[in-house]
Amino acid sequence: MEMDTVIGLEIHAQLNTRTKLFCSCPTEFGAEPNTNICEVCTGQPGALPRMNGLALELAAKAGLALGSKVNERSLFSRKNYFYPDLPNGFQTSQLDPPVCEGGGLEITSDDGTPKRVRLNRIHMEDDAGKCVHDELRGITKVDLNRAGTPLIEIVTEPDISSAREAVEFLKKLHGLLVRLGVTKGRMEEGEFRCDVNISLKPKGSPVLGVRGEIKNLNSFRFVGQAIEYEIGRQTEIYAAGGRVLQETLHFDSQKGETRSLRSKEEAHDYRYFPQPDLPPVYISPDLVERLRTELPEGPEEAFGRLLALGLKDVQARLLMDRRGALEYFDSARDAWKGPVAGAARICSLMEELFLPHCQKEGTSPLESPFTPDLMAKLAGLAEDGTLGRRKVQELAEQLFAEGLDPEKVVKERGLAQISDESELARLAAEVVAAHPQEAAKFRAGQEKILSFMVGKLMKLSAGRAEPRRAGELLKAALAVGGTGSGTAG
Ligand SMILES: [Zn+2]
Repeated sequence: MEMDTVIGLEIHAQLNTRTKLFCSCPTEFGAEPNTNICEVCTGQPGALPRMNGLALELAAKAGLALGSKVNERSLFSRKNYFYPDLPNGFQTSQLDPPVCEGGGLEITSDDGTPKRVRLNRIHMEDDAGKCVHDELRGITKVDLNRAGTPLIEIVTEPDISSAREAVEFLKKLHGLLVRLGVTKGRMEEGEFRCDVNISLKPKGSPVLGVRGEIKNLNSFRFVGQAIEYEIGRQTEIYAAGGRVLQETLHFDSQKGETRSLRSKEEAHDYRYFPQPDLPPVYISPDLVERLRTELPEGPEEAFGRLLALGLKDVQARLLMDRRGALEYFDSARDAWKGPVAGAARICSLMEELFLPHCQKEGTSPLESPFTPDLMAKLAGLAEDGTLGRRKVQELAEQLFAEGLDPEKVVKERGLAQISDESELARLAAEVVAAHPQEAAKFRAGQEKILSFMVGKLMKLSAGRAEPRRAGELLKAALAVGGTGSGTAG
Protein backbone atom coordinates (compact mmCIF):
# COMPACT_ATOMS: atom_id res chain seq x y z
CA MET A 1 0.00 0.00 0.00
CA GLU A 2 1.25 3.47 -0.82
CA MET A 3 1.66 5.64 2.27
CA ASP A 4 1.84 9.38 2.95
CA THR A 5 4.37 10.71 5.46
CA VAL A 6 3.04 13.29 7.93
CA ILE A 7 5.53 15.33 9.93
CA GLY A 8 5.15 18.02 12.55
CA LEU A 9 8.05 19.73 14.28
CA GLU A 10 8.60 21.18 17.73
CA ILE A 11 11.60 23.47 17.74
CA HIS A 12 13.33 24.72 20.87
CA ALA A 13 15.34 27.90 20.38
CA GLN A 14 17.34 29.44 23.22
CA LEU A 15 16.52 33.13 23.48
CA ASN A 16 19.43 35.50 23.09
CA THR A 17 19.49 36.95 26.62
CA ARG A 18 22.38 37.47 29.00
CA THR A 19 20.44 36.19 31.99
CA LYS A 20 18.00 33.38 32.72
CA LEU A 21 14.22 33.52 32.35
CA PHE A 22 13.27 33.99 36.01
CA CYS A 23 16.50 35.05 37.76
CA SER A 24 19.62 37.06 36.98
CA CYS A 25 22.05 34.14 36.67
CA PRO A 26 24.14 34.26 33.46
CA THR A 27 23.21 31.99 30.57
CA GLU A 28 26.80 31.58 29.35
CA PHE A 29 27.79 28.18 27.98
CA GLY A 30 30.68 26.12 29.30
CA ALA A 31 31.05 27.57 32.81
CA GLU A 32 32.21 25.36 35.72
CA PRO A 33 29.28 23.09 36.68
CA ASN A 34 26.83 24.59 39.19
CA THR A 35 28.39 28.05 39.28
CA ASN A 36 25.67 29.97 37.41
CA ILE A 37 22.90 29.12 39.85
CA CYS A 38 20.83 30.74 42.58
CA GLU A 39 17.91 29.91 44.86
CA VAL A 40 15.40 30.53 42.05
CA CYS A 41 16.86 28.31 39.33
CA THR A 42 17.69 25.54 41.81
CA GLY A 43 14.12 25.53 43.11
CA GLN A 44 14.72 26.44 46.76
CA PRO A 45 11.59 26.65 48.88
CA GLY A 46 10.20 30.17 49.02
CA ALA A 47 12.30 31.58 46.19
CA LEU A 48 10.21 33.67 43.82
CA PRO A 49 10.69 33.90 40.03
CA ARG A 50 10.63 37.24 38.15
CA MET A 51 10.25 37.26 34.41
CA ASN A 52 13.02 38.52 32.10
CA GLY A 53 11.41 41.27 29.97
CA LEU A 54 13.86 40.92 27.10
CA ALA A 55 12.98 37.22 26.75
CA LEU A 56 9.34 38.20 26.30
CA GLU A 57 10.23 40.78 23.63
CA LEU A 58 12.32 38.25 21.71
CA ALA A 59 9.53 35.67 21.82
CA ALA A 60 7.03 38.23 20.52
CA LYS A 61 9.47 39.32 17.82
CA ALA A 62 9.82 35.76 16.58
CA GLY A 63 6.04 35.56 16.38
CA LEU A 64 5.71 38.83 14.45
CA ALA A 65 8.33 37.75 11.92
CA LEU A 66 6.50 34.44 11.43
CA GLY A 67 3.11 36.10 10.97
CA SER A 68 1.73 34.84 14.29
CA LYS A 69 -0.81 36.61 16.44
CA VAL A 70 0.87 38.01 19.57
CA ASN A 71 -1.47 37.53 22.52
CA GLU A 72 -1.91 40.58 24.67
CA ARG A 73 -2.20 38.27 27.68
CA SER A 74 -0.43 34.96 28.15
CA LEU A 75 0.09 32.75 31.15
CA PHE A 76 2.84 30.58 32.62
CA SER A 77 1.87 27.14 33.90
CA ARG A 78 3.62 24.41 35.76
CA LYS A 79 4.28 21.30 33.69
CA ASN A 80 4.81 18.69 36.36
CA TYR A 81 7.20 15.82 36.04
CA PHE A 82 10.12 14.41 37.92
CA TYR A 83 13.63 14.32 36.62
CA PRO A 84 16.92 14.69 38.53
CA ASP A 85 17.94 17.77 36.54
CA LEU A 86 14.61 19.51 37.18
CA PRO A 87 14.91 20.81 40.75
CA ASN A 88 11.46 22.42 40.90
CA GLY A 89 9.69 19.17 40.05
CA PHE A 90 8.01 21.09 37.24
CA GLN A 91 8.98 23.01 34.13
CA THR A 92 7.62 26.56 33.90
CA SER A 93 5.97 26.62 30.49
CA GLN A 94 2.94 28.12 28.77
CA LEU A 95 -0.11 25.99 28.03
CA ASP A 96 -3.00 28.34 27.43
CA PRO A 97 -2.77 31.05 26.27
CA PRO A 98 0.78 30.98 24.85
CA VAL A 99 2.61 34.16 23.86
CA CYS A 100 1.92 33.66 20.11
CA GLU A 101 -0.55 31.64 18.05
CA GLY A 102 -0.76 30.77 14.35
CA GLY A 103 1.58 32.01 11.64
CA GLY A 104 3.67 30.04 9.17
CA LEU A 105 6.70 29.88 6.94
CA GLU A 106 6.87 29.17 3.22
CA ILE A 107 9.05 26.41 1.80
CA THR A 108 9.29 24.65 -1.56
CA SER A 109 7.38 21.39 -1.49
CA ASP A 110 8.74 18.18 -3.01
CA ASP A 111 6.80 18.77 -6.23
CA GLY A 112 8.46 22.17 -6.62
CA THR A 113 5.46 24.34 -5.74
CA PRO A 114 5.49 26.82 -2.83
CA LYS A 115 4.02 25.45 0.36
CA ARG A 116 3.20 27.17 3.62
CA VAL A 117 3.98 25.23 6.78
CA ARG A 118 1.51 26.52 9.36
CA LEU A 119 2.48 27.14 12.95
CA ASN A 120 0.23 26.07 15.76
CA ARG A 121 1.83 28.20 18.46
CA ILE A 122 4.95 29.66 20.04
CA HIS A 123 5.31 29.45 23.79
CA MET A 124 7.98 30.38 26.31
CA GLU A 125 9.49 28.01 28.84
CA ASP A 126 12.61 27.45 30.89
CA ASP A 127 15.21 24.80 30.16
CA ALA A 128 16.16 21.95 32.49
CA GLY A 129 19.65 21.27 33.85
CA LYS A 130 21.85 18.50 32.60
CA CYS A 131 22.70 15.01 33.86
CA VAL A 132 26.29 14.00 33.25
CA HIS A 133 26.79 10.24 33.34
CA ASP A 134 30.19 9.16 34.58
CA GLU A 135 30.19 5.59 33.34
CA LEU A 136 33.68 4.87 34.63
CA ARG A 137 32.68 5.50 38.21
CA GLY A 138 29.10 4.39 37.72
CA ILE A 139 27.60 7.64 38.94
CA THR A 140 25.48 10.43 37.48
CA LYS A 141 26.16 14.07 38.29
CA VAL A 142 23.76 16.97 37.90
CA ASP A 143 24.78 20.37 36.48
CA LEU A 144 22.13 23.07 36.95
CA ASN A 145 23.88 25.88 35.03
CA ARG A 146 21.42 25.47 32.18
CA ALA A 147 18.34 25.24 34.43
CA GLY A 148 16.15 28.29 33.90
CA THR A 149 17.61 29.27 30.50
CA PRO A 150 14.88 30.95 28.41
CA LEU A 151 13.53 29.03 25.43
CA ILE A 152 10.78 29.40 22.93
CA GLU A 153 9.10 26.30 21.59
CA ILE A 154 7.73 26.67 18.08
CA VAL A 155 5.13 24.03 17.24
CA THR A 156 4.16 23.45 13.60
CA GLU A 157 1.03 21.86 12.21
CA PRO A 158 1.64 18.44 10.60
CA ASP A 159 2.15 20.05 7.18
CA ILE A 160 5.53 18.55 6.27
CA SER A 161 5.73 15.52 3.99
CA SER A 162 9.37 14.48 3.76
CA ALA A 163 12.82 14.69 5.30
CA ARG A 164 13.85 17.21 2.65
CA GLU A 165 10.92 19.51 3.41
CA ALA A 166 11.61 19.27 7.15
CA VAL A 167 15.26 20.20 6.70
CA GLU A 168 14.43 23.10 4.38
CA PHE A 169 11.90 24.42 6.89
CA LEU A 170 14.37 24.18 9.77
CA LYS A 171 17.16 25.89 7.84
CA LYS A 172 14.84 28.74 6.88
CA LEU A 173 13.52 29.11 10.42
CA HIS A 174 17.02 28.98 11.89
CA GLY A 175 18.27 31.64 9.44
CA LEU A 176 15.33 33.91 10.19
CA LEU A 177 15.61 33.66 13.99
CA VAL A 178 19.36 34.26 13.91
CA ARG A 179 18.93 37.27 11.61
CA LEU A 180 16.30 38.64 14.00
CA GLY A 181 18.67 38.23 16.94
CA VAL A 182 16.05 36.09 18.68
CA THR A 183 18.59 33.30 19.17
CA LYS A 184 22.29 32.87 18.54
CA GLY A 185 21.31 29.49 17.10
CA ARG A 186 24.54 27.62 17.89
CA MET A 187 23.28 24.10 17.35
CA GLU A 188 26.36 22.37 18.76
CA GLU A 189 25.61 24.13 22.06
CA GLY A 190 21.97 23.08 21.97
CA GLU A 191 20.63 26.56 21.25
CA PHE A 192 18.46 25.31 18.39
CA ARG A 193 17.11 21.77 18.56
CA CYS A 194 14.12 19.96 17.32
CA ASP A 195 11.66 17.16 18.09
CA VAL A 196 10.11 15.40 15.10
CA ASN A 197 6.60 13.91 15.19
CA ILE A 198 6.21 11.46 12.37
CA SER A 199 3.47 9.10 11.24
CA LEU A 200 2.38 7.31 8.08
CA LYS A 201 -1.12 6.94 6.67
CA PRO A 202 -2.62 5.32 3.57
CA LYS A 203 -2.23 7.69 0.61
CA GLY A 204 -4.95 10.32 0.62
CA SER A 205 -6.54 9.16 3.90
CA PRO A 206 -7.77 11.98 6.14
CA VAL A 207 -7.07 9.98 9.30
CA LEU A 208 -3.63 10.44 10.85
CA GLY A 209 -1.64 7.37 11.79
CA VAL A 210 -0.02 6.71 15.17
CA ARG A 211 3.06 8.84 15.55
CA GLY A 212 6.52 8.41 16.91
CA GLU A 213 8.29 11.41 18.43
CA ILE A 214 12.04 11.64 17.87
CA LYS A 215 13.54 13.82 20.60
CA ASN A 216 16.24 16.44 20.67
CA LEU A 217 17.90 16.48 17.26
CA ASN A 218 20.58 19.15 17.13
CA SER A 219 21.80 19.03 13.54
CA PHE A 220 20.04 19.39 10.20
CA ARG A 221 21.76 16.24 8.99
CA PHE A 222 20.51 14.18 11.94
CA VAL A 223 16.96 15.44 11.32
CA GLY A 224 17.16 14.18 7.73
CA GLN A 225 18.67 10.85 8.71
CA ALA A 226 16.28 10.25 11.61
CA ILE A 227 13.21 10.93 9.46
CA GLU A 228 14.42 8.66 6.64
CA TYR A 229 15.11 5.89 9.15
CA GLU A 230 11.77 6.28 10.87
CA ILE A 231 9.84 6.26 7.56
CA GLY A 232 11.57 2.97 6.74
CA ARG A 233 10.89 1.48 10.16
CA GLN A 234 7.19 2.37 10.20
CA THR A 235 6.73 1.27 6.57
CA GLU A 236 8.10 -2.15 7.45
CA ILE A 237 5.78 -2.50 10.44
CA TYR A 238 2.72 -1.64 8.33
CA ALA A 239 3.87 -3.92 5.51
CA ALA A 240 4.09 -6.81 7.98
CA GLY A 241 0.56 -6.03 9.21
CA GLY A 242 1.80 -4.74 12.56
CA ARG A 243 0.88 -1.71 14.67
CA VAL A 244 3.06 1.34 15.23
CA LEU A 245 3.18 2.30 18.91
CA GLN A 246 2.92 5.86 20.14
CA GLU A 247 6.30 6.35 21.71
CA THR A 248 9.16 8.69 22.33
CA LEU A 249 12.28 7.84 20.34
CA HIS A 250 15.93 8.65 20.60
CA PHE A 251 18.06 8.94 17.45
CA ASP A 252 21.42 7.23 17.74
CA SER A 253 23.53 9.25 15.30
CA GLN A 254 26.39 6.74 15.39
CA LYS A 255 24.21 3.82 14.32
CA GLY A 256 21.87 6.01 12.27
CA GLU A 257 18.75 4.50 13.86
CA THR A 258 16.00 5.40 16.31
CA ARG A 259 15.21 3.46 19.46
CA SER A 260 12.39 3.66 21.96
CA LEU A 261 12.86 5.73 25.13
CA ARG A 262 9.39 5.41 26.63
CA SER A 263 5.77 5.32 25.66
CA LYS A 264 4.65 8.84 24.82
CA GLU A 265 2.84 10.84 27.47
CA GLU A 266 -0.20 13.01 26.82
CA ALA A 267 -0.66 16.61 27.95
CA HIS A 268 -2.90 15.54 30.83
CA ASP A 269 -0.11 13.38 32.24
CA TYR A 270 1.69 16.59 33.19
CA ARG A 271 -1.14 18.01 35.34
CA TYR A 272 -0.62 21.51 33.97
CA PHE A 273 -1.91 24.29 36.20
CA PRO A 274 -1.24 28.06 36.27
CA GLN A 275 2.04 28.89 38.01
CA PRO A 276 0.82 30.74 41.13
CA ASP A 277 4.17 32.52 41.62
CA LEU A 278 3.92 34.42 38.33
CA PRO A 279 1.24 36.92 37.30
CA PRO A 280 -0.17 36.78 33.77
CA VAL A 281 2.10 38.29 31.12
CA TYR A 282 0.86 41.38 29.29
CA ILE A 283 2.21 42.80 26.06
CA SER A 284 0.89 46.25 25.20
CA PRO A 285 -0.13 47.09 21.61
CA ASP A 286 2.50 49.87 21.76
CA LEU A 287 5.23 47.33 22.46
CA VAL A 288 4.01 45.12 19.63
CA GLU A 289 4.14 48.11 17.27
CA ARG A 290 7.67 49.01 18.39
CA LEU A 291 8.83 45.42 17.87
CA ARG A 292 7.23 45.38 14.44
CA THR A 293 9.29 48.41 13.37
CA GLU A 294 12.45 46.59 14.48
CA LEU A 295 11.84 43.64 12.15
CA PRO A 296 14.18 43.25 9.19
CA GLU A 297 12.50 43.17 5.80
CA GLY A 298 10.63 39.97 5.04
CA PRO A 299 11.70 37.65 2.21
CA GLU A 300 9.03 38.91 -0.23
CA GLU A 301 9.94 42.51 0.45
CA ALA A 302 13.65 41.82 -0.05
CA PHE A 303 12.97 39.93 -3.28
CA GLY A 304 10.94 42.81 -4.71
CA ARG A 305 13.59 45.34 -3.73
CA LEU A 306 16.34 43.34 -5.48
CA LEU A 307 14.32 43.01 -8.69
CA ALA A 308 13.68 46.76 -8.61
CA LEU A 309 17.46 47.26 -8.55
CA GLY A 310 17.61 45.46 -11.87
CA LEU A 311 18.81 42.05 -10.67
CA LYS A 312 17.56 38.88 -12.32
CA ASP A 313 15.30 36.40 -10.51
CA VAL A 314 18.08 33.87 -10.00
CA GLN A 315 20.47 36.53 -8.73
CA ALA A 316 17.98 37.82 -6.16
CA ARG A 317 17.33 34.28 -4.98
CA LEU A 318 21.05 33.57 -4.74
CA LEU A 319 21.64 36.61 -2.54
CA MET A 320 18.75 35.63 -0.30
CA ASP A 321 19.61 31.96 0.01
CA ARG A 322 23.29 32.26 0.89
CA ARG A 323 23.86 33.15 4.49
CA GLY A 324 25.26 36.67 4.80
CA ALA A 325 25.15 37.34 1.04
CA LEU A 326 22.30 39.85 1.12
CA GLU A 327 23.83 41.79 4.03
CA TYR A 328 27.17 41.84 2.20
CA PHE A 329 25.54 43.01 -1.02
CA ASP A 330 23.67 45.81 0.78
CA SER A 331 26.83 47.03 2.52
CA ALA A 332 28.77 47.01 -0.75
CA ARG A 333 25.99 49.00 -2.37
CA ASP A 334 26.09 51.53 0.48
CA ALA A 335 29.81 51.94 -0.11
CA TRP A 336 29.32 52.27 -3.89
CA LYS A 337 29.69 55.84 -5.05
CA GLY A 338 28.69 55.40 -8.69
CA PRO A 339 25.31 55.19 -10.44
CA VAL A 340 22.55 52.71 -9.65
CA ALA A 341 23.94 50.28 -12.22
CA GLY A 342 26.46 49.36 -9.52
CA ALA A 343 23.93 46.92 -8.07
CA ALA A 344 24.13 44.70 -11.12
CA ARG A 345 27.92 44.92 -11.24
CA ILE A 346 28.35 44.06 -7.55
CA CYS A 347 25.89 41.23 -7.85
CA SER A 348 27.56 39.69 -10.89
CA LEU A 349 30.98 39.88 -9.22
CA MET A 350 29.50 38.13 -6.19
CA GLU A 351 27.68 35.55 -8.27
CA GLU A 352 30.58 34.62 -10.56
CA LEU A 353 33.61 35.02 -8.33
CA PHE A 354 33.09 35.99 -4.72
CA LEU A 355 30.40 33.59 -3.51
CA PRO A 356 32.06 30.56 -5.17
CA HIS A 357 35.28 31.63 -3.42
CA CYS A 358 33.52 31.86 -0.04
CA GLN A 359 31.89 28.48 -0.57
CA LYS A 360 35.24 26.92 -1.39
CA GLU A 361 36.78 28.47 1.73
CA GLY A 362 33.76 27.57 3.85
CA THR A 363 33.32 31.13 5.13
CA SER A 364 30.38 33.47 5.24
CA PRO A 365 30.78 36.54 2.97
CA LEU A 366 30.63 38.77 6.04
CA GLU A 367 33.65 37.00 7.58
CA SER A 368 35.78 37.38 4.44
CA PRO A 369 38.83 39.69 4.64
CA PHE A 370 37.55 41.15 1.36
CA THR A 371 35.08 43.59 2.90
CA PRO A 372 32.00 45.10 1.21
CA ASP A 373 33.97 48.39 0.91
CA LEU A 374 36.65 46.63 -1.12
CA MET A 375 33.98 44.95 -3.23
CA ALA A 376 32.51 48.38 -3.99
CA LYS A 377 35.95 49.55 -5.15
CA LEU A 378 36.45 46.47 -7.33
CA ALA A 379 33.02 46.96 -8.88
CA GLY A 380 33.91 50.57 -9.55
CA LEU A 381 37.12 49.59 -11.36
CA ALA A 382 35.23 47.03 -13.43
CA GLU A 383 32.40 49.43 -14.19
CA ASP A 384 34.54 52.33 -15.43
CA GLY A 385 36.64 49.99 -17.56
CA THR A 386 39.88 50.38 -15.60
CA LEU A 387 39.98 46.63 -15.05
CA GLY A 388 38.94 44.34 -17.88
CA ARG A 389 36.91 41.22 -17.24
CA ARG A 390 39.88 38.95 -17.65
CA LYS A 391 42.04 40.98 -15.27
CA VAL A 392 39.31 40.87 -12.63
CA GLN A 393 39.15 37.11 -12.97
CA GLU A 394 42.92 36.81 -12.67
CA LEU A 395 43.10 38.99 -9.58
CA ALA A 396 39.98 37.77 -7.80
CA GLU A 397 41.38 34.85 -5.79
CA GLN A 398 44.26 36.88 -4.39
CA LEU A 399 42.14 39.93 -3.64
CA PHE A 400 39.52 37.84 -1.84
CA ALA A 401 41.93 35.63 0.07
CA GLU A 402 44.17 38.45 1.29
CA GLY A 403 41.62 41.25 1.51
CA LEU A 404 43.69 43.50 -0.77
CA ASP A 405 42.52 46.94 -1.83
CA PRO A 406 41.91 46.63 -5.59
CA GLU A 407 42.60 50.33 -6.23
CA LYS A 408 46.04 50.03 -4.64
CA VAL A 409 46.79 46.81 -6.50
CA VAL A 410 45.91 48.40 -9.82
CA LYS A 411 48.16 51.38 -9.09
CA GLU A 412 51.10 49.39 -7.74
CA ARG A 413 51.11 46.84 -10.53
CA GLY A 414 50.21 49.20 -13.36
CA LEU A 415 47.23 47.10 -14.32
CA ALA A 416 44.88 49.77 -15.53
CA GLN A 417 43.43 48.92 -18.91
CA ILE A 418 44.89 51.01 -21.72
CA SER A 419 42.25 53.54 -22.51
CA ASP A 420 44.54 55.61 -24.69
CA GLU A 421 43.27 54.72 -28.19
CA SER A 422 46.39 55.89 -29.99
CA GLU A 423 48.59 53.63 -27.89
CA LEU A 424 46.32 50.65 -28.54
CA ALA A 425 46.24 51.44 -32.27
CA ARG A 426 50.03 51.57 -32.30
CA LEU A 427 50.21 48.14 -30.63
CA ALA A 428 47.67 46.74 -33.12
CA ALA A 429 49.76 47.94 -36.04
CA GLU A 430 52.81 46.37 -34.42
CA VAL A 431 51.06 43.01 -34.18
CA VAL A 432 49.97 43.14 -37.81
CA ALA A 433 53.46 44.02 -38.95
CA ALA A 434 54.99 41.20 -36.91
CA HIS A 435 52.66 38.57 -38.45
CA PRO A 436 52.52 39.17 -42.21
CA GLN A 437 51.43 35.58 -43.04
CA GLU A 438 48.49 35.66 -40.66
CA ALA A 439 47.57 39.13 -41.88
CA ALA A 440 47.52 37.86 -45.45
CA LYS A 441 45.31 34.90 -44.45
CA PHE A 442 42.88 37.26 -42.74
CA ARG A 443 42.71 39.45 -45.80
CA ALA A 444 42.09 36.33 -47.90
CA GLY A 445 38.92 35.74 -45.87
CA GLN A 446 40.08 33.60 -42.93
CA GLU A 447 38.43 35.81 -40.36
CA LYS A 448 38.95 33.27 -37.60
CA ILE A 449 42.59 34.21 -37.52
CA LEU A 450 41.59 37.47 -35.86
CA SER A 451 41.32 35.84 -32.42
CA PHE A 452 44.95 34.72 -32.77
CA MET A 453 45.92 38.34 -33.43
CA VAL A 454 43.82 39.53 -30.50
CA GLY A 455 45.71 37.07 -28.31
CA LYS A 456 49.01 38.53 -29.51
CA LEU A 457 47.79 42.04 -28.82
CA MET A 458 46.62 41.09 -25.32
CA LYS A 459 50.06 39.64 -24.66
CA LEU A 460 51.84 42.67 -26.02
CA SER A 461 49.73 44.95 -23.83
CA ALA A 462 50.28 42.69 -20.79
CA GLY A 463 46.56 42.01 -20.64
CA ARG A 464 45.67 45.65 -20.31
CA ALA A 465 43.66 45.90 -23.53
CA GLU A 466 39.93 45.38 -23.69
CA PRO A 467 39.55 42.37 -26.03
CA ARG A 468 36.60 43.62 -28.07
CA ARG A 469 38.18 47.01 -28.68
CA ALA A 470 41.47 45.22 -29.49
CA GLY A 471 39.67 43.24 -32.19
CA GLU A 472 38.23 46.41 -33.72
CA LEU A 473 41.57 48.16 -33.81
CA LEU A 474 43.26 45.11 -35.31
CA LYS A 475 40.67 44.99 -38.08
CA ALA A 476 41.34 48.65 -38.77
CA ALA A 477 45.09 48.02 -38.83
CA LEU A 478 44.64 45.02 -41.18
CA ALA A 479 42.51 47.10 -43.53
CA VAL A 480 45.15 49.79 -43.65
CA GLY A 481 47.90 47.23 -44.21
CA GLY A 482 45.91 45.65 -47.07
CA THR A 483 45.94 48.84 -49.12
CA GLY A 484 49.70 48.89 -48.86
CA SER A 485 49.75 52.33 -47.32
CA GLY A 486 50.06 51.25 -43.67
CA THR A 487 53.15 51.57 -41.61
CA ALA A 488 53.86 49.48 -38.61
CA GLY A 489 54.81 50.91 -35.25
ZN1 LIG B 1 19.41 31.60 39.06
